[in-house]
Amino acid sequence: MCYIWQHKLLIFNKLLVLAKPGTKTMVHTKQSDVGEHLHEVYGHERLLSRLAASLTDGRFPHATLFVGPPGVGKQRIAIWVAQGLLCDDGPGAPCGKCQSCRQVAALGHPDLHWFIPVPRPKATDPDKQIDEARGLLADAVADRRARPLYDRPAGTASHALASIRLLHRIVHVRPFQGPRKAVVLGNAERLVVQEASHEAANALLKILEEPPADTYVMLTTSEPQSLLPTIRSRLVPVRIGGVGDETVRRFLSRELRPPPARSAMEQRLLKAEGSIGRAALARGWENGAEKAADGFLAAVQGGARRWAPLALAQAPWAARGDFTAMLDALALRLRAGLLKRAPLDAQGTRRIAAAIRRVEETRAAAQGNVNPQLALAVLARRLGEFAA
Ligand SMILES: [Zn+2]
Repeated sequence: MCYIWQHKLLIFNKLLVLAKPGTKTMVHTKQSDVGEHLHEVYGHERLLSRLAASLTDGRFPHATLFVGPPGVGKQRIAIWVAQGLLCDDGPGAPCGKCQSCRQVAALGHPDLHWFIPVPRPKATDPDKQIDEARGLLADAVADRRARPLYDRPAGTASHALASIRLLHRIVHVRPFQGPRKAVVLGNAERLVVQEASHEAANALLKILEEPPADTYVMLTTSEPQSLLPTIRSRLVPVRIGGVGDETVRRFLSRELRPPPARSAMEQRLLKAEGSIGRAALARGWENGAEKAADGFLAAVQGGARRWAPLALAQAPWAARGDFTAMLDALALRLRAGLLKRAPLDAQGTRRIAAAIRRVEETRAAAQGNVNPQLALAVLARRLGEFAA
């Protein structure tokens, strides 16, 4: 697998080198005459011109994996590529002016499909699940349109089987508006296939193996090693690195309202490490919720005698939001364990996947009128079964 992976990388790099630089290198997508829209792509100029060249030459691969550190702009760049694919003058660098480009910038193009991790649908009927997934995704996209500086998705959100079925449907329907359609699937490490669902894995493999000629599927992840090798080997990697401090500074001063004052700006730049997302959110990627989750997990592993007093005493949730944040952090911790084990040990993978389900259920219950401490006690008991 590793060989194929490297081989594909080599081929793609060659393509990029051989391709002549595109004549259109405009990367600005900012529009004042459409409602809410994405900010332009900051930095990454060389990568964009190489991508544009491969689009112009018609050599851009149909199934790609955008890889890079969190917050570095992988999904934003994938959407830029989608814009270049759907541009009325395309494929090539997006002109930023035509109707299609403006629709993409406003996340309103009917042939742009952005898959974001969402809560698992509640319906039991598969068709209803797909409809529900469609609605959840529309909400998630609307949210990103309204707040383009988004944080990572909730820990319990995933690309569940219903999302993959929806993807399958979309891929096999003709484009609505132009000759092509583009799919961006962010946080690919959240694909439910990682949780040992064979149906989901097979459906996805089929899509990636033979995407229709009019379809381009771009997955993004900061954890490529966590994808199943069978999936990874079908994708051509596109590596996305960090940007310089000056680019981060330009982004923060132009896109944050109000822009950070001088000392705050320096603080953010220190944290950025080339990642605009990290600098823009700047509330630290670790916080109280993660500490609480670690304490809770340690207590669960220590058995009921340990977790019962600890978990209950430790949980004076000031707000329901704190409790949900802790559950999200808990799910992320479990997921990290899942990703480490993924292809190695099917039984371990299934156990962790089931544990994540328990956290999801608790999170759903917490949205209602349930007592957080009671919910936590129930969760601890059920997670204790997996910790054994
Ligand atoms: Zn255009």
